[in-house]
Amino acid sequence: MMKFTLDGLVRENVKSLKPYSSARDEYLADGSQMVFLDANENPFENGMNRYPDPHQRSVKNILADLKGIPESQILVGNGSDEVLDLLFRAFCEPKVDNVIILPPTYGMYKVLGGINEIRVKEVLLTNDFQPNTDQVLDTVDGRTKLIFLCSPNNPTANSFETAHIEQVLKGFNGLLVIDEAYIDFSKKESWISKLGTYPNLIVTQTLSKAYGMAGIRMGVCYASEAIIAILKKIKPPYNVNELTQQQAKKGLLDQKGLEKQVNAILGQREVVRQTLYKIGFVREVFPSDANFLLTRVDDADRRYTELLQKGIVARNRSTQPLCENTLRFTIGTAEENKHLINALNELDNE
Ligand SMILES: *Cc1c(COP(=O)(O)O)cnc(C)c1O
Repeated sequence: MMKFTLDGLVRENVKSLKPYSSARDEYLADGSQMVFLDANENPFENGMNRYPDPHQRSVKNILADLKGIPESQILVGNGSDEVLDLLFRAFCEPKVDNVIILPPTYGMYKVLGGINEIRVKEVLLTNDFQPNTDQVLDTVDGRTKLIFLCSPNNPTANSFETAHIEQVLKGFNGLLVIDEAYIDFSKKESWISKLGTYPNLIVTQTLSKAYGMAGIRMGVCYASEAIIAILKKIKPPYNVNELTQQQAKKGLLDQKGLEKQVNAILGQREVVRQTLYKIGFVREVFPSDANFLLTRVDDADRRYTELLQKGIVARNRSTQPLCENTLRFTIGTAEENKHLINALNELDNE
């Protein structure tokens, strides 16, 4: 293991920053009968007239319990997208630092690099969609702050091999961000369990996929207490609203419901897979550890349009490297998948 020091990675302005102290920071509502005249809120109770907890304590309490990790190692954001943006803003000096991503992958890393004026270096996955670890480590320079790995990866659907991820963790002195948006669909263990081993590891998860709450916008970041403390300094105080916190708690506490839906989706994924194999114009169905299937077809633009005409919206991923003529299908309900299957069977194979 190389010598890792977090201090050298943090932006100078963030190091010296003093975060905004909100009214709810200075005096914590503890359920007692206090009279709150501190935050210029409207006093007439409607369930939403008070500012939300800026530290999302009750959400984190549930997450800490579920994941077996202290609350001090958890940051909650307005979707993973906010969490990822905070990582750029905390660690990457605009126009100076760079990050590495591994296309084909999630598009937001590059967009966030653009917004924050951070150079994004790209190292393609191998032909079997695994990280080219030697090349990744060769691409690291003195200004590389973050490497983003998405596992299970979007849009390729596969998980990365443990040995590859470990090699990057051990060989990189910056921060490795593992985006686990689809981890609840995978049998693989989350990298959260390795946070104690690797001080440069950051894991992000979301309530947008398996938990079925894309609409509330909640993403979660797990990392060392030191990393989380830095992110807390720069996050907007009320970044997660009250409705979202309430809904998230309900969803997180319903683990039986989660399991039921995940199993249904995984069962349906195999039904759709079997069908896709039999379609003449489908050339390849890639292995999936997520709630979608990536397929290679004869002509993705044509098949995309034909499916649209039958009322099915797929995702054409053909512009991504290594993804020529690919369509990505999210697994829907049994009913929705039947529509997809019927539509696929009706298309001309010529
Ligand atoms: C869907 C998805 C997310 C989720 O982002 P949210 O902002 O939490 O909705 C994150 N990462 C990847 C790779 C995704 O596909």
